[in-house]
Amino acid sequence: MSWERSIILKSPAEIAVMREAGRINALALEAVRGAIRPGVNTAELDEIATEVIRKHGATPTFLGVPGAYPYPKSTTISINDELVHGIPGKRRLQEGDIVSVDCGATYEGFVGDAAFTTGVGKISAEAQRLIDVTYKALEIGIDQLHVGNRVGDIGAAIQRYVEGEGYYLTKEYTGHGVGRSMWEGPQVPNYGTPGRGIPLKVGMVIAIEPMLLVGTERTKVLADQWTVVSADGSLTAHYEHTIAITDNGPVILTLP
Ligand code: MG
Ligand code: MG
Repeated sequence: MSWERSIILKSPAEIAVMREAGRINALALEAVRGAIRPGVNTAELDEIATEVIRKHGATPTFLGVPGAYPYPKSTTISINDELVHGIPGKRRLQEGDIVSVDCGATYEGFVGDAAFTTGVGKISAEAQRLIDVTYKALEIGIDQLHVGNRVGDIGAAIQRYVEGEGYYLTKEYTGHGVGRSMWEGPQVPNYGTPGRGIPLKVGMVIAIEPMLLVGTERTKVLADQWTVVSADGSLTAHYEHTIAITDNGPVILTLP
């Protein structure tokens, strides 16, 4: 995926539009979450997200994202060992799977980007713990989004917590600034050194997205040239919100 590294601060009016993009994206993800059950295929879930996004006058951000070939769907749906960028299709969810859904909505030119992981039917205690730690890692990252902190504080906090829980974080895929493009600066790794990196400012809008692996930090890309899996086949999980840094601290934009 191509990246733009420039950091573009947003006005309160722009953040209000981004809040609407984020809200629409959250509604799409909620609709998908409600449809997740054993037997549903991932293309059907993608269609649900697409419908919600379009119904609210937005467009699916992921559709056509450049890569080895343009991304063909509105969501990425990644199952079990698939960490990110799984392409929706005929695969049917099974009882005990864990599924990560990532989605973007563009509204009046601005993007909302968010993801969640959930279980399909009854899942193992180990899988549930992975999901819970991933969500908590997202919350810990968001807590760092205050003026006075630097980008390194975000990754350092996430890394300290996740590694303390015995899990691994990919170093190949990161969080990022969000605006009219899904990828603006700064790049926001899920690892780092406290007090290092770019200072956080009011008006920055950032996607924080911890991507956890059970076995090792190593990943590989499947033959479809999009799907990223854990190299050892172990379980993975992913959560993401788009958050604005305001005078009053972090405000999550990707909530319904
Ligand atoms: Mg995303
Ligand atoms: Mg993202």
